[in-house]
Amino acid sequence: MSAPDPVKADDPSTPTRNRSHMSNSDSKSSLKPDTKLAHLGRDPKSFHGFVNPPVVHASTVLYPDVETMRPGGQKYSYARRGNPTTDSLEETVKELEGAAGVRLASSGLGAVSLAILSCVKSGDHILITDTAYHPTRHFSDTVLPKFGISAEYYDPLIGAEIKSRFKPNTAAVFTEAPGSLTFEMQDIPAIAQAAREIGAMVLMDNTWATPLFCQPIALGVDLSIQAGTKYIVGHSDAMLGTVAASERAWDGLNDFYGAIGGHVAPDDAFLGLRGLRTMSVRLERHQRNTHAVLEWLKDLPMIGTIRYPALPSDPGHAIWKRDFSGSSGLCGFDFIEGTTKEQSNAFLNALTLFGLGYSWGGFESLAIPVKLKGARSTTRFDENRRSVRLHIGLEDPEDLIRDIEQALVKAFG
Ligand SMILES: *Cc1c(COP(=O)(O)O)cnc(C)c1O
Repeated sequence: MSAPDPVKADDPSTPTRNRSHMSNSDSKSSLKPDTKLAHLGRDPKSFHGFVNPPVVHASTVLYPDVETMRPGGQKYSYARRGNPTTDSLEETVKELEGAAGVRLASSGLGAVSLAILSCVKSGDHILITDTAYHPTRHFSDTVLPKFGISAEYYDPLIGAEIKSRFKPNTAAVFTEAPGSLTFEMQDIPAIAQAAREIGAMVLMDNTWATPLFCQPIALGVDLSIQAGTKYIVGHSDAMLGTVAASERAWDGLNDFYGAIGGHVAPDDAFLGLRGLRTMSVRLERHQRNTHAVLEWLKDLPMIGTIRYPALPSDPGHAIWKRDFSGSSGLCGFDFIEGTTKEQSNAFLNALTLFGLGYSWGGFESLAIPVKLKGARSTTRFDENRRSVRLHIGLEDPEDLIRDIEQALVKAFG
Protein backbone atom coordinates (compact mmCIF):
# COMPACT_ATOMS: atom_id res chain seq x y z
CA MET A 1 0.00 0.00 0.00
CA SER A 2 1.45 3.33 -1.00
CA ALA A 3 1.56 6.36 1.27
CA PRO A 4 -1.61 8.46 1.20
CA ASP A 5 -1.85 11.30 -1.22
CA PRO A 6 -0.36 14.24 0.68
CA VAL A 7 -2.46 16.93 -1.00
CA LYS A 8 -6.18 16.69 -1.50
CA ALA A 9 -6.82 20.38 -1.44
CA ASP A 10 -10.09 20.22 -3.30
CA ASP A 11 -11.60 17.37 -1.32
CA PRO A 12 -13.14 18.76 1.87
CA SER A 13 -14.27 15.32 3.00
CA THR A 14 -10.73 14.34 3.96
CA PRO A 15 -9.45 17.36 5.87
CA THR A 16 -7.24 15.38 8.24
CA ARG A 17 -5.27 13.95 5.33
CA ASN A 18 -4.73 17.27 3.70
CA ARG A 19 -1.21 18.50 3.99
CA SER A 20 -1.20 21.42 1.63
CA HIS A 21 -0.37 23.94 4.34
CA MET A 22 2.63 21.81 5.22
CA SER A 23 3.80 21.34 1.65
CA ASN A 24 3.44 25.07 0.99
CA SER A 25 5.65 25.94 3.92
CA ASP A 26 8.84 26.15 1.85
CA SER A 27 7.48 28.99 -0.23
CA LYS A 28 6.08 30.60 2.92
CA SER A 29 9.45 30.63 4.71
CA SER A 30 10.44 33.70 2.72
CA LEU A 31 7.39 35.72 3.78
CA LYS A 32 7.80 38.59 6.25
CA PRO A 33 6.77 37.81 9.86
CA ASP A 34 3.52 39.83 9.75
CA THR A 35 2.42 38.00 6.63
CA LYS A 36 3.31 34.68 8.22
CA LEU A 37 1.15 35.56 11.23
CA ALA A 38 -1.82 36.20 8.95
CA HIS A 39 -1.43 33.23 6.62
CA LEU A 40 0.48 30.34 8.13
CA GLY A 41 -1.08 27.31 9.77
CA ARG A 42 -4.39 27.50 7.95
CA ASP A 43 -5.68 26.10 4.72
CA PRO A 44 -9.27 27.20 4.09
CA LYS A 45 -9.56 24.98 1.01
CA SER A 46 -9.30 21.86 3.10
CA PHE A 47 -12.06 22.97 5.51
CA HIS A 48 -14.90 24.03 3.18
CA GLY A 49 -13.39 27.51 2.82
CA PHE A 50 -13.67 28.43 6.48
CA VAL A 51 -10.86 30.83 7.29
CA ASN A 52 -9.70 29.15 10.51
CA PRO A 53 -8.91 25.48 11.12
CA PRO A 54 -11.53 23.68 13.18
CA VAL A 55 -10.96 22.82 16.82
CA VAL A 56 -10.57 19.07 16.43
CA HIS A 57 -11.71 17.30 19.58
CA ALA A 58 -10.39 13.82 19.17
CA SER A 59 -8.74 10.67 20.42
CA THR A 60 -9.32 7.85 17.91
CA VAL A 61 -8.46 8.24 14.25
CA LEU A 62 -9.88 5.65 11.84
CA TYR A 63 -7.87 3.91 9.12
CA PRO A 64 -9.33 2.79 5.81
CA ASP A 65 -7.81 -0.70 6.03
CA VAL A 66 -5.37 -2.85 7.99
CA GLU A 67 -2.55 -2.21 5.55
CA THR A 68 -2.60 1.50 6.38
CA MET A 69 -2.26 0.75 10.12
CA ARG A 70 1.51 1.06 10.21
CA PRO A 71 3.84 3.86 11.29
CA GLY A 72 3.50 6.65 8.74
CA GLY A 73 0.64 4.86 6.98
CA GLN A 74 -1.47 8.00 7.15
CA LYS A 75 -0.90 11.52 8.37
CA TYR A 76 -2.79 11.14 11.64
CA SER A 77 -2.68 7.99 13.73
CA TYR A 78 -3.93 8.95 17.17
CA ALA A 79 -4.82 12.35 18.59
CA ARG A 80 -2.13 12.32 21.27
CA ARG A 81 0.38 12.53 18.43
CA GLY A 82 -1.25 15.65 17.00
CA ASN A 83 -4.35 16.78 15.16
CA PRO A 84 -5.06 19.52 12.61
CA THR A 85 -5.50 22.19 15.29
CA THR A 86 -2.25 21.52 17.15
CA ASP A 87 -0.45 21.03 13.83
CA SER A 88 -1.55 24.48 12.68
CA LEU A 89 -0.07 26.13 15.75
CA GLU A 90 3.15 24.11 15.63
CA GLU A 91 3.58 24.85 11.95
CA THR A 92 3.07 28.60 12.43
CA VAL A 93 5.48 28.83 15.37
CA LYS A 94 8.03 26.69 13.48
CA GLU A 95 8.05 29.17 10.60
CA LEU A 96 8.20 32.18 12.93
CA GLU A 97 11.15 30.70 14.84
CA GLY A 98 12.98 29.41 11.76
CA ALA A 99 13.03 26.03 13.51
CA ALA A 100 13.36 22.42 12.37
CA GLY A 101 10.27 21.59 14.43
CA VAL A 102 8.07 22.72 17.30
CA ARG A 103 6.34 20.90 20.15
CA LEU A 104 3.62 22.39 22.33
CA ALA A 105 3.38 22.18 26.09
CA SER A 106 0.47 22.80 28.42
CA SER A 107 2.20 25.80 30.03
CA GLY A 108 5.35 27.85 29.74
CA LEU A 109 6.88 25.97 32.64
CA GLY A 110 5.89 22.74 30.89
CA ALA A 111 7.84 23.97 27.85
CA VAL A 112 10.88 24.73 30.04
CA SER A 113 10.88 21.26 31.63
CA LEU A 114 10.19 19.56 28.28
CA ALA A 115 13.10 21.37 26.61
CA ILE A 116 15.53 20.62 29.44
CA LEU A 117 14.58 16.96 29.84
CA SER A 118 14.77 16.40 26.08
CA CYS A 119 18.49 17.16 26.02
CA VAL A 120 20.00 15.92 29.29
CA LYS A 121 20.48 12.47 30.79
CA SER A 122 21.56 10.92 34.07
CA GLY A 123 25.06 12.08 35.05
CA ASP A 124 24.88 15.32 33.06
CA HIS A 125 25.48 18.86 34.27
CA ILE A 126 23.43 21.88 33.21
CA LEU A 127 24.31 25.55 33.63
CA ILE A 128 21.39 27.89 34.23
CA THR A 129 21.35 31.66 34.26
CA ASP A 130 20.97 33.01 37.78
CA THR A 131 18.19 35.28 36.53
CA ALA A 132 15.99 32.46 35.21
CA TYR A 133 12.26 32.55 35.84
CA HIS A 134 11.95 31.28 39.39
CA PRO A 135 9.86 28.17 38.69
CA THR A 136 12.59 27.12 36.18
CA ARG A 137 15.00 27.21 39.12
CA HIS A 138 12.58 25.25 41.29
CA PHE A 139 12.25 22.56 38.59
CA SER A 140 16.02 22.39 38.19
CA ASP A 141 16.65 22.17 41.93
CA THR A 142 13.98 19.61 42.75
CA VAL A 143 13.33 17.43 39.68
CA LEU A 144 16.71 17.23 37.95
CA PRO A 145 18.58 15.83 40.99
CA LYS A 146 16.10 12.95 41.13
CA PHE A 147 17.50 11.82 37.77
CA GLY A 148 21.14 12.42 38.67
CA ILE A 149 21.39 15.67 36.73
CA SER A 150 23.15 18.54 38.49
CA ALA A 151 22.21 22.18 37.95
CA GLU A 152 24.49 25.13 38.64
CA TYR A 153 23.78 28.83 38.24
CA TYR A 154 25.95 31.32 36.42
CA ASP A 155 26.15 35.10 36.26
CA PRO A 156 23.85 36.21 33.40
CA LEU A 157 26.50 38.73 32.26
CA ILE A 158 29.18 36.04 31.88
CA GLY A 159 29.22 36.00 28.04
CA ALA A 160 32.00 33.92 26.44
CA GLU A 161 33.50 33.36 29.90
CA ILE A 162 30.80 30.73 30.37
CA LYS A 163 33.53 28.33 29.32
CA SER A 164 35.17 28.75 32.72
CA ARG A 165 32.08 27.09 34.21
CA PHE A 166 32.09 24.07 31.89
CA LYS A 167 32.65 20.61 33.33
CA PRO A 168 33.42 17.46 31.35
CA ASN A 169 29.75 16.47 31.75
CA THR A 170 28.16 19.85 30.88
CA ALA A 171 25.41 18.95 28.42
CA ALA A 172 23.31 22.12 28.29
CA VAL A 173 23.33 25.85 28.99
CA PHE A 174 20.05 27.53 29.81
CA THR A 175 19.69 31.25 29.00
CA GLU A 176 16.93 33.79 29.41
CA ALA A 177 17.05 37.40 28.24
CA PRO A 178 16.18 39.76 29.62
CA GLY A 179 16.40 38.15 33.05
CA SER A 180 13.26 37.50 35.02
CA LEU A 181 12.36 40.45 37.30
CA THR A 182 15.75 42.17 36.91
CA PHE A 183 16.01 42.43 33.09
CA GLU A 184 19.74 41.72 32.58
CA MET A 185 20.60 41.08 28.93
CA GLN A 186 22.75 38.09 28.01
CA ASP A 187 25.29 37.75 25.21
CA ILE A 188 23.47 34.80 23.63
CA PRO A 189 25.72 34.43 20.53
CA ALA A 190 28.87 34.33 22.70
CA ILE A 191 27.36 31.78 25.09
CA ALA A 192 26.02 29.68 22.21
CA GLN A 193 29.39 29.69 20.46
CA ALA A 194 31.19 28.51 23.59
CA ALA A 195 28.60 25.81 24.27
CA ARG A 196 28.79 24.52 20.72
CA GLU A 197 32.55 24.07 21.05
CA ILE A 198 31.93 21.44 23.75
CA GLY A 199 28.82 20.00 22.08
CA ALA A 200 26.43 21.31 24.74
CA MET A 201 22.86 22.27 23.83
CA VAL A 202 21.82 25.90 24.28
CA LEU A 203 18.34 26.72 25.56
CA MET A 204 16.74 30.14 25.69
CA ASP A 205 13.56 31.29 27.37
CA ASN A 206 12.57 33.97 24.85
CA THR A 207 9.13 34.78 26.27
CA TRP A 208 9.84 38.51 26.71
CA ALA A 209 10.74 39.24 23.08
CA THR A 210 8.78 36.50 21.27
CA PRO A 211 10.18 35.26 17.94
CA LEU A 212 9.04 38.58 16.43
CA PHE A 213 11.63 40.61 18.35
CA CYS A 214 14.35 37.98 18.88
CA GLN A 215 15.23 34.92 16.80
CA PRO A 216 17.07 32.58 19.17
CA ILE A 217 17.81 29.84 16.62
CA ALA A 218 19.53 32.35 14.32
CA LEU A 219 21.63 33.43 17.35
CA GLY A 220 22.85 29.85 17.86
CA VAL A 221 20.23 28.53 20.29
CA ASP A 222 19.04 24.91 19.95
CA LEU A 223 15.84 24.98 21.97
CA SER A 224 13.86 28.22 21.91
CA ILE A 225 11.18 28.38 24.59
CA GLN A 226 8.04 30.52 24.77
CA ALA A 227 5.58 30.77 27.59
CA GLY A 228 2.77 30.95 25.03
CA THR A 229 0.54 31.92 27.94
CA LYS A 230 1.97 35.43 27.58
CA TYR A 231 2.05 37.10 24.15
CA ILE A 232 1.05 34.19 21.91
CA VAL A 233 -2.27 33.63 23.68
CA GLY A 234 -2.27 37.34 24.55
CA HIS A 235 -5.68 37.53 26.21
CA SER A 236 -5.08 35.98 29.66
CA ASP A 237 -7.46 33.15 28.88
CA ALA A 238 -5.31 30.05 28.36
CA MET A 239 -2.02 28.42 29.36
CA LEU A 240 0.40 27.28 26.66
CA GLY A 241 4.08 26.66 25.98
CA THR A 242 6.12 26.15 22.83
CA VAL A 243 9.56 24.64 22.24
CA ALA A 244 11.18 25.27 18.86
CA ALA A 245 14.20 23.12 17.99
CA SER A 246 17.26 23.58 15.79
CA GLU A 247 18.13 20.75 13.37
CA ARG A 248 20.41 19.08 15.88
CA ALA A 249 17.93 19.30 18.77
CA TRP A 250 14.76 18.34 16.90
CA ASP A 251 14.93 14.52 16.98
CA GLY A 252 15.71 14.54 20.69
CA LEU A 253 12.79 16.86 21.43
CA ASN A 254 10.33 15.05 19.20
CA ASP A 255 11.24 11.56 20.47
CA PHE A 256 11.11 12.65 24.10
CA TYR A 257 7.76 14.38 23.60
CA GLY A 258 6.27 11.26 22.05
CA ALA A 259 7.66 9.04 24.80
CA ILE A 260 6.25 11.07 27.70
CA GLY A 261 2.85 11.59 26.06
CA GLY A 262 3.07 15.32 25.54
CA HIS A 263 -0.18 16.81 24.32
CA VAL A 264 -2.10 20.10 24.33
CA ALA A 265 -5.88 20.35 24.24
CA PRO A 266 -7.24 21.60 20.89
CA ASP A 267 -9.16 24.47 22.51
CA ASP A 268 -5.95 25.85 24.00
CA ALA A 269 -4.05 25.37 20.73
CA PHE A 270 -6.84 27.26 18.98
CA LEU A 271 -6.59 30.17 21.45
CA GLY A 272 -2.86 30.23 20.77
CA LEU A 273 -3.47 30.40 17.02
CA ARG A 274 -6.09 33.09 17.41
CA GLY A 275 -3.73 35.12 19.57
CA LEU A 276 -0.84 34.75 17.11
CA ARG A 277 -2.80 36.39 14.31
CA THR A 278 -2.67 39.74 16.12
CA MET A 279 0.55 39.29 18.08
CA SER A 280 2.56 41.70 15.96
CA VAL A 281 0.12 44.61 16.21
CA ARG A 282 -0.35 43.99 19.94
CA LEU A 283 3.40 43.92 20.56
CA GLU A 284 3.90 47.12 18.62
CA ARG A 285 1.36 48.83 20.87
CA HIS A 286 2.77 47.28 24.07
CA GLN A 287 6.16 48.62 23.01
CA ARG A 288 4.91 52.11 22.23
CA ASN A 289 2.86 52.36 25.44
CA THR A 290 5.78 51.13 27.55
CA HIS A 291 8.08 53.78 26.11
CA ALA A 292 5.45 56.45 26.79
CA VAL A 293 4.95 55.39 30.42
CA LEU A 294 8.67 55.02 31.15
CA GLU A 295 9.52 58.33 29.49
CA TRP A 296 7.13 60.00 31.92
CA LEU A 297 8.19 57.92 34.93
CA LYS A 298 11.97 58.08 34.66
CA ASP A 299 12.60 61.58 36.00
CA LEU A 300 10.21 61.51 38.95
CA PRO A 301 11.95 62.14 42.31
CA MET A 302 10.90 58.85 43.96
CA ILE A 303 11.94 56.69 40.99
CA GLY A 304 15.41 55.11 40.89
CA THR A 305 16.64 52.71 38.22
CA ILE A 306 14.35 51.82 35.32
CA ARG A 307 14.75 48.27 34.05
CA TYR A 308 13.99 48.00 30.34
CA PRO A 309 16.77 47.12 27.86
CA ALA A 310 15.21 49.17 25.05
CA LEU A 311 16.14 52.37 26.94
CA PRO A 312 19.59 53.78 26.08
CA SER A 313 20.24 54.18 29.83
CA ASP A 314 19.88 50.43 30.44
CA PRO A 315 23.15 48.49 30.93
CA GLY A 316 21.93 45.81 28.50
CA HIS A 317 20.97 48.30 25.79
CA ALA A 318 23.89 47.58 23.42
CA ILE A 319 23.20 43.84 23.39
CA TRP A 320 19.47 44.45 23.03
CA LYS A 321 20.12 46.70 20.05
CA ARG A 322 22.43 44.17 18.44
CA ASP A 323 20.29 41.03 18.91
CA PHE A 324 16.68 42.19 19.30
CA SER A 325 14.42 44.14 16.95
CA GLY A 326 11.87 45.38 19.47
CA SER A 327 10.75 45.37 23.09
CA SER A 328 7.59 44.21 24.79
CA GLY A 329 5.43 45.53 27.61
CA LEU A 330 7.26 44.05 30.59
CA CYS A 331 9.53 46.39 32.52
CA GLY A 332 10.61 47.21 36.03
CA PHE A 333 11.72 50.07 38.20
CA ASP A 334 13.23 50.64 41.62
CA PHE A 335 12.01 53.26 44.04
CA ILE A 336 14.81 55.44 45.39
CA GLU A 337 16.88 54.25 48.34
CA GLY A 338 15.09 54.64 51.63
CA THR A 339 11.66 53.87 50.24
CA THR A 340 9.82 51.73 52.76
CA LYS A 341 7.89 48.55 52.16
CA GLU A 342 4.79 50.44 53.35
CA GLN A 343 5.25 53.11 50.69
CA SER A 344 5.81 50.53 47.97
CA ASN A 345 2.77 48.53 49.08
CA ALA A 346 0.65 51.69 49.32
CA PHE A 347 1.60 52.52 45.73
CA LEU A 348 0.62 49.07 44.47
CA ASN A 349 -2.62 49.01 46.45
CA ALA A 350 -3.64 52.43 45.10
CA LEU A 351 -3.38 51.43 41.43
CA THR A 352 -6.77 51.07 39.78
CA LEU A 353 -6.09 50.30 36.11
CA PHE A 354 -3.07 48.11 36.84
CA GLY A 355 -4.21 44.80 38.29
CA LEU A 356 -2.13 43.05 40.94
CA GLY A 357 -1.46 39.68 39.38
CA TYR A 358 1.14 37.25 38.15
CA SER A 359 1.65 36.36 34.55
CA TRP A 360 1.65 39.04 31.83
CA GLY A 361 1.34 39.31 28.06
CA GLY A 362 -2.40 39.90 28.03
CA PHE A 363 -4.12 43.09 26.89
CA GLU A 364 -4.28 44.48 30.41
CA SER A 365 -1.76 46.28 32.58
CA LEU A 366 -0.42 44.52 35.66
CA ALA A 367 1.91 45.24 38.57
CA ILE A 368 3.71 43.11 41.15
CA PRO A 369 6.22 43.84 43.90
CA VAL A 370 9.61 42.29 43.03
CA LYS A 371 10.92 39.91 45.68
CA LEU A 372 14.47 38.72 45.05
CA LYS A 373 15.17 37.04 48.40
CA GLY A 374 16.01 33.41 47.59
CA ALA A 375 15.68 34.04 43.87
CA ARG A 376 19.41 34.40 43.12
CA SER A 377 22.45 32.39 44.13
CA THR A 378 25.40 33.84 42.20
CA THR A 379 24.29 37.38 41.39
CA ARG A 380 24.60 40.19 43.93
CA PHE A 381 21.55 42.27 44.59
CA ASP A 382 20.40 44.70 47.23
CA GLU A 383 17.80 42.96 49.36
CA ASN A 384 16.50 46.28 50.63
CA ARG A 385 15.72 47.68 47.25
CA ARG A 386 12.02 48.24 46.60
CA SER A 387 11.20 47.26 43.04
CA VAL A 388 8.06 46.92 41.01
CA ARG A 389 7.50 44.98 37.82
CA LEU A 390 4.96 46.43 35.42
CA HIS A 391 3.27 44.93 32.43
CA ILE A 392 2.12 47.81 30.23
CA GLY A 393 -1.06 46.75 28.48
CA LEU A 394 -3.04 48.06 25.54
CA GLU A 395 -4.88 50.82 27.42
CA ASP A 396 -4.31 54.46 26.47
CA PRO A 397 -0.92 55.34 28.01
CA GLU A 398 -2.28 58.70 29.24
CA ASP A 399 -4.74 56.83 31.46
CA LEU A 400 -1.98 54.52 32.69
CA ILE A 401 0.23 57.51 33.52
CA ARG A 402 -2.62 59.17 35.41
CA ASP A 403 -3.21 55.96 37.35
CA ILE A 404 0.47 55.68 38.32
CA GLU A 405 0.54 59.38 39.22
CA GLN A 406 -2.41 59.21 41.62
CA ALA A 407 -0.96 56.04 43.22
CA LEU A 408 2.40 57.74 43.73
CA VAL A 409 0.68 60.72 45.33
CA LYS A 410 -1.16 58.40 47.72
CA ALA A 411 2.04 56.54 48.65
CA PHE A 412 4.54 59.42 48.76
CA GLY A 413 2.34 62.45 49.33
C1 LIG B 1 5.36 33.06 32.78
C2 LIG B 1 6.70 32.60 32.36
C3 LIG B 1 6.99 31.24 32.23
C4 LIG B 1 6.01 30.18 32.59
O1 LIG B 1 4.84 30.21 31.83
P1 LIG B 1 3.50 29.56 32.42
O2 LIG B 1 2.65 29.41 31.23
O3 LIG B 1 2.98 30.51 33.45
O4 LIG B 1 3.89 28.24 33.01
C5 LIG B 1 8.24 30.89 31.79
N1 LIG B 1 9.18 31.81 31.51
C6 LIG B 1 8.94 33.12 31.63
C7 LIG B 1 10.00 34.09 31.29
C8 LIG B 1 7.70 33.55 32.08
O5 LIG B 1 7.48 34.86 32.24
